[in-house]
Amino acid sequence: MTNKRYLIETWGCQMNEHDSEKISGILRSLGYKEAENRNNADLIIFNTCLVRENAELKVYGNIGELKRLKRKNKDLTVAICGCMMQKKEVRDVIREKYKQVDIIFGTHNIHKLPELLENYRQSDNMLIDVWEDSGEIIEQIPTKRKYDYKAFLNIMYGCNNFCTYCIVPYTRGREKSRNPEEILKEVNRLAKEGFKEITLLGQNVNSYGKTLNSKMTFAELLRKINEVDGIKRIRFMTSHPKDLSDELIYAIRDCENICKHIHLPFQAGSNKILKLMNRKYTKEQYLDLMYKIRQEIPEIAITTDIIVGFPNETEKDFEETLDVVRKSRFDSAFTFLYSVREGTPAAKMENQIPDKVKHERFQKLLDTLHPISYENNKRTIGKTFDVLVEGVSKNDDTMYTGRTGTNKLVHFKANEEFIGKIVNVKINSVKTWSLQGEIVD
Ligand code: SF4
Repeated sequence: MTNKRYLIETWGCQMNEHDSEKISGILRSLGYKEAENRNNADLIIFNTCLVRENAELKVYGNIGELKRLKRKNKDLTVAICGCMMQKKEVRDVIREKYKQVDIIFGTHNIHKLPELLENYRQSDNMLIDVWEDSGEIIEQIPTKRKYDYKAFLNIMYGCNNFCTYCIVPYTRGREKSRNPEEILKEVNRLAKEGFKEITLLGQNVNSYGKTLNSKMTFAELLRKINEVDGIKRIRFMTSHPKDLSDELIYAIRDCENICKHIHLPFQAGSNKILKLMNRKYTKEQYLDLMYKIRQEIPEIAITTDIIVGFPNETEKDFEETLDVVRKSRFDSAFTFLYSVREGTPAAKMENQIPDKVKHERFQKLLDTLHPISYENNKRTIGKTFDVLVEGVSKNDDTMYTGRTGTNKLVHFKANEEFIGKIVNVKINSVKTWSLQGEIVD
């Protein structure tokens, strides 16, 4: 056992956040303690993201900064992992230019960290151990979660969709679903530990079960998790429209503990662009889904992802995107300017859109989205929602925040004792992205 200190810095999505919780759990099982900052850490781990170029550049910048720290602390160990390390070109750059890095590992061999640390301690040379997809799912990895009332939980890994702008299938491998028994064991353990909310993670949770012998569907899994005593809120991300079944809509409708919120990326409105993105659905099919979901679950909140400026996108194509936004009336959306990602098919496409045009369209998109989000929020005034209290508001330390089941951010007066509790909040006023209210009995 060691009494050294570790620090993990994480870039990217919830999948990476949860991987960092596993790395933290593994290190604590070896006796490590968490460091406050880089200066008093004996081991610094960067868990990297490859989805956007600027994320990659930020990581190189941060690795550069560690050179100074290593000069001050000769015993400092630096390890880099995550999606960026799955790319050979990146590993070669680090091997050549960033000698201050000691260990490089990937997204498929996090569980090997104890061995890697030991091998590095004995060799003292830069250790690079990155696995291509092993197809195997490693269970029972010690996990130190960031919160003690809400938890991320993987139900599957990898993606088979190969959207032409996305690097994930190349860094996270082929789709594989965890055994439902293992998932339910983990959910029951979390419930016993007092967790109230769980978020089921997968690149495309709707295709859960396809690699299982039992062929259990995502809807069936949700219904089983809904029966676990103690778990009051079940969230999941991310859903792919092509695999969103009626069965899943009915499960969300019928199950009390499944949050009435679905994140359903549509990315673009034009069928020409959807084809070039290899999204495997049409504008009409997406709108039919919107209509069906709202028909069955009128109180549901729907959020999405939208990419502006994909190669070959004309003004007419972009108008189709705005048309989907107007008709779908999203509660909120993650909006992205298309950025070239080396290694993806879209990076090689002709007719890349000039930045000026991308920014003009991006502004038009925000000008269309914001009033709709605000109108949707206005309909909550005077109503009372159950809210899981998460902590002090980032913008106003006299207020606390939490989220409704529909995933809306709420600000209200409270104190520390409320953190992790589900309270009733009556909404008095709203903004585009948040609600404000007071706790009521
Ligand atoms: S569904 Fe498409 S965008 Fe999502 S992770 Fe898979 S390839 Fe990427």
